[in-house]
Amino acid sequence: MYDLIIIGGGPSGSAAGRLAGKIGLETLLIEKEVFPRYKPCGGAFSEQAMSYLDFVVPQYIHEKNIFGVRVHFRGQVIEKHKEYRIATLVSRDILDNYLLEKAKEIGIEIKTGEKVIDYKENKDHVDVYTNDDTYKAKFVIVAEGSQGKLKNRIRKRDKKNEYAICVVTEIEQDNKTIDKYIHNAIDIHFGVANMGYGWIFPHEKYYSVGIGGLAKDLHNPKKTMMDFLKSNGFNNNYKLDVHLIPTGGIKRNIASSRVVLSGDAAGFVDSFIGEGIAYAIRSGQLAVEIISDTLLSKNKQGSLKNYKSICERDFFSNLKYSLILSKMMHRFPGIFFKIFTSNEDVIDKYLEVPALKRTYKSYIKWLIPRVPKYLLFRSSR
Ligand SMILES: Cc1cc2nc3c(=O)[nH]c(=O)nc-3n(C[C@H](O)[C@H](O)[C@H](O)COP(=O)(O)OP(=O)(O)OC[C@H]3O[C@@H](n4cnc5c(N)ncnc54)[C@H](O)[C@@H]3O)c2cc1C
Repeated sequence: MYDLIIIGGGPSGSAAGRLAGKIGLETLLIEKEVFPRYKPCGGAFSEQAMSYLDFVVPQYIHEKNIFGVRVHFRGQVIEKHKEYRIATLVSRDILDNYLLEKAKEIGIEIKTGEKVIDYKENKDHVDVYTNDDTYKAKFVIVAEGSQGKLKNRIRKRDKKNEYAICVVTEIEQDNKTIDKYIHNAIDIHFGVANMGYGWIFPHEKYYSVGIGGLAKDLHNPKKTMMDFLKSNGFNNNYKLDVHLIPTGGIKRNIASSRVVLSGDAAGFVDSFIGEGIAYAIRSGQLAVEIISDTLLSKNKQGSLKNYKSICERDFFSNLKYSLILSKMMHRFPGIFFKIFTSNEDVIDKYLEVPALKRTYKSYIKWLIPRVPKYLLFRSSR
């Protein structure tokens, strides 16, 4: 009988595993792939995400340091840079492998290449069934990402207005050409994918190129991606990966008596830009904290339901306000993009959010009173 079984070895599962090991919980982490494995992602690893780790990610994993953003909308282009780093760009196979190694070094048991098929929650334990074996644990964290179905035992499947469809590819290029195209910044194309966005992120010897938009609006994702590629001069045949991002905010069930959802499985993603690594790491850690408190009976109600309130206090505010921005973008796209491209300050201030210099809430509080001015005047450009 384990204290804890973690399903999935992405950033959320690894972060949970590392903390569980440090606290001394008998922990088994089960990952269906053999690492390093490919994970479709833009690979933007924010300062916020890094701040949650209890170690420094080595330099070789940071392929590019990002200080700014170039935003395109209907032929307009604004580029804004900060004097401090807002994120780095990483390859997820390398980052995720490193994070899993950091969980392993604490001494937890890790099985890769083994898939969890199902689990059964009992009064005093959970049975976890894989394609190889059956395991028992007092508690389980489901950190299976956005594509798995185990989470649907706890929370309903997202509706089409609650998740985004992304198509992503990697395009090889030499670093000199990449740096000439964009240096120390990321390239965002608003208005692509029916009010979603397209991105071109510079990595080590390749671009990550992708599009993403709400499932209810994005009817032909692959064609949208092909059009985006062509319009940016990428004319070859590329291997395209389709993946989902939950974007529906926070009003969900995320725990039962013995099972907790974390990361994408819980739906913890910034609805506006699709950033999820930070919330995956943090929610994995918080899931372990509540499980450990429950095991040690520090959590007086003895209930994992408190998990939602500790996540709420910790990071829900960002998820809530990113959803507000995302809803504004979908409901009033013309107005929204006009605001975003009418004044450099709107983007400049936004960059402070992933850099941890400003919260989403204070950004929106800053923005709202300025909206009439930005709609009427095109200042500072
Ligand atoms: C195209 C795209 C671009 C993105 N770009 C960014 C970005 O630039 N920056 C950012 O911060 N976020 C980005 N995101 C979001 C980010 O990828 C996720 O939020 C993050 O990976 C969530 O981490 P996780 O650990 O919850 O899930 P995952 O990283 O998906 O990990 C889940 C793990 O569980 C394993 N697993 C699944 N089912 C089972 C099972 N049944 N048994 C055992 N193992 C299982 C999987 O193999 C996987 O390794 C992007 C997402 C997409 C789709």
